[in-house]
Amino acid sequence: MSETINAFQMAQRQFDAVARMLNLDPQVAEILRQPSREFKFTLPIRMDDGSIRVFTGYRVQHSDARGPSKGGIRWHPSETLDTVRALAMWMTWKTSVADIPLGGGKGGIPVDSATLSVTEKERLCRAWVDQMWRNIGPRQDVPAPDVGTTPQMMGWMMDEYSKLVGQYTPGVITGKPVGGGGSLGRTEATGFGVIYTVREAMKHLKMDPTKSVAALQGFGNVSQYAAIGFIDLLGGKVACVSCWDRDDRTAYTFSHADGVDPKFLQSITDQYGTIDKVKARAAGYVIEDGDAWIAKDADVLIPGALEGQVNAETVKRISQRVKIVAEGANGPTTPEADEALKGRGIFNIPDFLCNAGGVTTSYFESVQNDMNYYWTKREVLERLDTKMTDAFNSVLEMSVKEGVYMRDAAYMVAIGRVVKAMELRGWI
Ligand code: NAD
Repeated sequence: MSETINAFQMAQRQFDAVARMLNLDPQVAEILRQPSREFKFTLPIRMDDGSIRVFTGYRVQHSDARGPSKGGIRWHPSETLDTVRALAMWMTWKTSVADIPLGGGKGGIPVDSATLSVTEKERLCRAWVDQMWRNIGPRQDVPAPDVGTTPQMMGWMMDEYSKLVGQYTPGVITGKPVGGGGSLGRTEATGFGVIYTVREAMKHLKMDPTKSVAALQGFGNVSQYAAIGFIDLLGGKVACVSCWDRDDRTAYTFSHADGVDPKFLQSITDQYGTIDKVKARAAGYVIEDGDAWIAKDADVLIPGALEGQVNAETVKRISQRVKIVAEGANGPTTPEADEALKGRGIFNIPDFLCNAGGVTTSYFESVQNDMNYYWTKREVLERLDTKMTDAFNSVLEMSVKEGVYMRDAAYMVAIGRVVKAMELRGWI
């Protein structure tokens, strides 16, 4: 997100609105509307050609009222301190709504990782930890991968931290590779988590999942497993998925007369979530423009790619049949579109509830690291289902009790729990 849309101001405005709804004491609101700690530091790196380049590193810890701060480290050229602040605050609400005993944090380095060699990336990862190690840790702040960072990078960071503290400490960071302290089930977690919440929404709306059709945007980690889950876990049909084509620099929607087969599509999709058009066409897929997914005759829409995709323009194309919008991506719905969806009585599963399966499984990863005992994939996914179901139902209960939209209810549950923890600890 660029500086022109100031993400932190947006996060503060959202918080202020819910603080008013909750009649939150202004002094308490003043604590929560800003991060509790911020770190900005230089990262001088020896490049492969022998020169030294100085990068900037950030870590923002918004809240640790409910437990150690938790949140990813993003490497993105337009990363700013305000973006990191906003994302850290959103993590506090996400871990709270999922009811996992963690707070919110985020980190970043403004850099395009594609411009660095493998050895330069490793040196930058280790340098970030060299600057931050005194202020992160399994009981302080637990980073994870995010945009531009990978499980391998988490492995290097865990190794650097372990060397500095003098003991193997896998719980300092999550999203590590399986076999290097990572958890089984993390790959499926976010997409399946989306589907567990859709299943609960369908129960509430008295919809039959086996007669339901979903249309998805994106075909990366989230949408691939949401599509598989919609078919395998709910017995529904998937009308389409979409993706960004890096060669054509445009997006396409892929549909099939019998419903798409996500496992087949996965076999012809590259690591960036781009589907091979030639192979898809040969298998009978129809390829349309990138926006076609939103106009499909479907009961459930799952925007699982980018922010701002359900907006004032695209919302007009949503079919009368749609009953649920499940936000797999972060921030897919603009405030204008939100009002239109409310007006049409479409049920919303807000992003920080809907896609909380990822951070919940990250929490399970650190629990397994602490125990030094690892669960099977089945155990991980069962525990995830329980957590997501409970999270959904506490938000639904708040929404019904207070007569508010699900997004507002999710904020009310999340902020309420953080404030409660602050009270119990005697902070307020
Ligand atoms: P990804 O990089 O694996 O996949 C992104 C997908 O979106 C790709 O298929 C890409 O081709 C597609 N895409 C990009 N631009 C598009 C466009 N204009 N139209 C259609 N498709 C487009 O990413 P991901 O991990 O699946 O994450 C997707 C979203 O979910 C992001 O908003 C991310 O922040 C959020 N999220 C992810 C996780 C997680 O665990 N992966 C957890 C929480 C939230």
